[in-house]
Amino acid sequence: MDEQLVKKLQELYSIVKDEISESLKKGSCTIIISHKAIAAVDIKLAEEVLNNPKNTLKVLEKFFSQKLGINVKVRIKDLPKDRWIRIRDIRSEHIGKLIETEGIIKVSTEVRPVVVAVKYYHNKCGGEFWYNLFGEDSDKEQFIRFKIEKPKVCSVCGESEGRFVEVERKTVDMQRLLVEETPDQIERGEQPAQIIVFLTEDLCEPRMERRTIPGTRIRIVGVVEALQNSKTQAVLDLIINAVYIEPVEKDIEDIKISEEDELKIKELAKSGDVLNILARSIAPSIHGKHYEHIKKALILQLVGGVKKIRSDGTRVRGDIHMLLIGDPGTGKSITPDSKIVIIDESRKINVVPIGEFVDQLIEDNTNKVILYGDTEILNLLDI
Ligand SMILES: [Zn+2]
Repeated sequence: MDEQLVKKLQELYSIVKDEISESLKKGSCTIIISHKAIAAVDIKLAEEVLNNPKNTLKVLEKFFSQKLGINVKVRIKDLPKDRWIRIRDIRSEHIGKLIETEGIIKVSTEVRPVVVAVKYYHNKCGGEFWYNLFGEDSDKEQFIRFKIEKPKVCSVCGESEGRFVEVERKTVDMQRLLVEETPDQIERGEQPAQIIVFLTEDLCEPRMERRTIPGTRIRIVGVVEALQNSKTQAVLDLIINAVYIEPVEKDIEDIKISEEDELKIKELAKSGDVLNILARSIAPSIHGKHYEHIKKALILQLVGGVKKIRSDGTRVRGDIHMLLIGDPGTGKSITPDSKIVIIDESRKINVVPIGEFVDQLIEDNTNKVILYGDTEILNLLDI
């Protein structure tokens, strides 16, 4: 490592020192560094992290491991905005680069060990070398190979003749996620795009499991890679090899309650009127006697119920669903621009402003609309 770089890394260390010692105290061997912190120290290093992430992360890991005296994994978060790419916009130009994207987990597999490298003995020269299967020779190839294949040439002598004998294997834990674009990321009529995300090592530790439950909305920082399932396959799949993942909605356990908050919550609880107080704080601009019990119902829905198992073994879910029905202008949504999610029969997801949706509905059913003064009433009985 050259002196200049070491100096920069020392500087970086002094910036993130407190955070590091915090996470090491919790028994984690992972260091999470904001890209902003790296950019604050050295623009060139920050660029290298984005454009040559695999090698640069190795340099960072080597430095921090030596510095701290234990083996650490370095994870990068908060990429600059120009690296935020929608799943549908991920292209081959991003291969080998670090990007950030967002989506909802549709499927997550179980954690399984995967062979990432095989150590071979070359009978011609007697040398031994590691052959990587998991796209680690990033400057040469970006392919991830799920098949264990023999090397073409010996890394020690450079010869291709002779036999290569397997000596040892290196495995890591891996989990695969299928991540889909969120409804608010897609335009009307578009199908949500999907991508496969690989999580390895500390990213699929048991403590991360909460973050990888299907339905969770996550931000992913990762390296785009081409996946070749077989040698003859000409069409390559693009995947993201995750460097960092974070749930977008904070998990209940991630919410920090200060002493002051705790005091206020306890006070509210003691008041004996907590349901009314909370209900009044919902959409104060919509008020009136009839809305009070609707707001109370909304609070109960937000809090949720408790899963119950009856004596005969049947289960009752704790989740409550709500459907608000009413004439136009009765305060179901704030403005006609409020976006709603509509799923049609083919399970296609549309996100439209509610005003536009209602207009369309009325237009499509003109002969079923009764004009009542200024108000158009949709005759739902005929539909
Ligand atoms: Zn050799």
